[in-house]
Amino acid sequence: MLCEVCGKSSQKLLRTEIEGAELMVCQECSALGKIIREPKENFMQPIFKKTTNPPKIQEPPQVIENFGVEIKKAREKLGLTREELAKKIFEKESLLVRIENTNFEPEEKVIRKLEKVLGIKLIEQ
Ligand SMILES: [Zn+2]
Repeated sequence: MLCEVCGKSSQKLLRTEIEGAELMVCQECSALGKIIREPKENFMQPIFKKTTNPPKIQEPPQVIENFGVEIKKAREKLGLTREELAKKIFEKESLLVRIENTNFEPEEKVIRKLEKVLGIKLIEQ
């Protein structure tokens, strides 16, 4: 590569603004003007970005319709009071009240315990 000012061959030319003109010049000649910083080469980035698989978000279990009502029905069929059922699944009675009255969805482990104790399916497959 040749310097555009002195014509000397140089390994490395610097893009330099000399008297308003942009020239590729050698190190020496670059002192005559202002070196223009080359923008970082963004296009060197790989086209295919490494796609990191996001951690699989576990879908919340899809509970059956009338979740609370079904629990209540199953509980009553077994002749259990809320208190008794709560004790069986080691949860608070107030949680069962919420579940039965407002279809509140508890944690999956609670749902699983209810399924087991009541012998019903609460999660849609
Ligand atoms: Zn030069």
